[in-house]
Amino acid sequence: MSLRTRLILSYILIIVLCLSVVAAALLILLQDYRERLAMARLADMSVPVYVQVRATALGRVSLNQAWTNLEEQAQETNTYIFLLDTQGNVIKYASPEGSSSEYDPPTPPPEKLSPDRKRPYRGTYVSSEGEGFIFAAHPLPGLFKSRSPTAPATLVLAVPRAEALAFWAEFAKPFLWAGLIALGVSIVIAILLARSVYLPIRRVTNAAEEIAQGQYNQEVPVAGPKEVRGLALSFNQMAKQVKHSQQMLRNFVADVSHELRTPLTSIKGFSQAILDGTAKDKEAQLKAARVIEDESKRMMRLVNELLELSRLESGQVNMVKEPTDLKELLQQCREIFTIRAEEKGLQFTTNVEPLPPVNGDIDRLEQVFSNLLDNAFKHTPAGGKVSIAARQHSPNFIEVAVLDTGPGIPPEQLPHVFERFYRVDASGTKTGTGLGLAIAREIVRAHGGDIKVNSVLGEGTEFLVRLPVNYSTQHS
Ligand code: ADP
Repeated sequence: MSLRTRLILSYILIIVLCLSVVAAALLILLQDYRERLAMARLADMSVPVYVQVRATALGRVSLNQAWTNLEEQAQETNTYIFLLDTQGNVIKYASPEGSSSEYDPPTPPPEKLSPDRKRPYRGTYVSSEGEGFIFAAHPLPGLFKSRSPTAPATLVLAVPRAEALAFWAEFAKPFLWAGLIALGVSIVIAILLARSVYLPIRRVTNAAEEIAQGQYNQEVPVAGPKEVRGLALSFNQMAKQVKHSQQMLRNFVADVSHELRTPLTSIKGFSQAILDGTAKDKEAQLKAARVIEDESKRMMRLVNELLELSRLESGQVNMVKEPTDLKELLQQCREIFTIRAEEKGLQFTTNVEPLPPVNGDIDRLEQVFSNLLDNAFKHTPAGGKVSIAARQHSPNFIEVAVLDTGPGIPPEQLPHVFERFYRVDASGTKTGTGLGLAIAREIVRAHGGDIKVNSVLGEGTEFLVRLPVNYSTQHS
């Protein structure tokens, strides 16, 4: 069932429900009110009638004379007038249909009357025909001197009760009109509402179908109610991301193919040289074989590093994070690199303050610092300086700086050094894969930290690694 139909149906339900409740309440209230009004009128009317009957009791007029008068009144006011004895039998009556009526008058049943009461009273009764009446009664005790049980004892005025259904017919029409108008308005609202929800949703659906068919360039306008706008926003975000990852995937495939092409070309060339005899003597063959081995090794490294990077990026690497003393870790790095510094004729210093432990995977963190130091050593010429220093940067972070006095990195290239396959001087660093810094950054990020680089051309480069302090052990 469409949204529009659902809305219209629910509106109809609400309208019918509301109108019925209001009608029922009104009916009950008005019925009650009308009845009370009728009773009050009857009571008012009964006073002059009572006066006339009393006049006959006092002997001023004869009962018959008075009764002719009362019959006229009965017809004019549509009222029944009864004069009853103590047993409730009719002595005289006047009806709206006139005294010529062949029907039995709708006399009130005796159990509803109490002629011994002193004051007038009111009530309702159902006649022997089954018709409902309201009545006002005037007891006449002691008015007619006679003690006989057949002497007049009660004067009763009665009118038929207003019938509920007839009464309802009066109100049905305006109610029906109100209902119809409300229905018309609500159908218009339902259509507009459904449109405001339906149109934007359909646009999202269409765009999603386009994406499923490979058209990634999709953006839907953000319109409609809040929830629908939220959907459109999320959809646009998702579409952008899908497009981005598609682009990334394409770039990645292109990059990898490009990276593998150089060593493969080399391997192909040299193996061909061995096969077709271009590399004639033993020495040339040995040289070719060595190149082939080197290039294969390079490819192996590239593939391994790529695998590691992709596992790091997708969060598949299981880091064993535990409180790690950076001082100890950097001490180990120092031992490894001191020998290399001596070989290369570099000055290598470490400066580590006593520090709170960080939460980290010791092997992975060592990989990061080894990589940074390796880069520093690689790029710093003999006579230069490399240093590593750790300090508390802020209450929550420890900062490790790896400094060198190498050639530096051109400012326009600085933002790219952490990118996959990015090499500042592609010709100079033939051995590098351009993945080292990308891997380092992934590891640092997986620790909740960050890595940055500053560099001045001709002066040197500084890599800054920030790692969060492990509070749980610090407080214990
Ligand atoms: P690679 O394996 O090629 O060294 P990296 O990701 O480790 O790849 O480094 C990316 C690039 O950043 C390198 O090509 C290198 O030119 C440059 N680089 C890294 N560290 C330094 C440094 N300390 N001094 C100058 N250039 C650097």
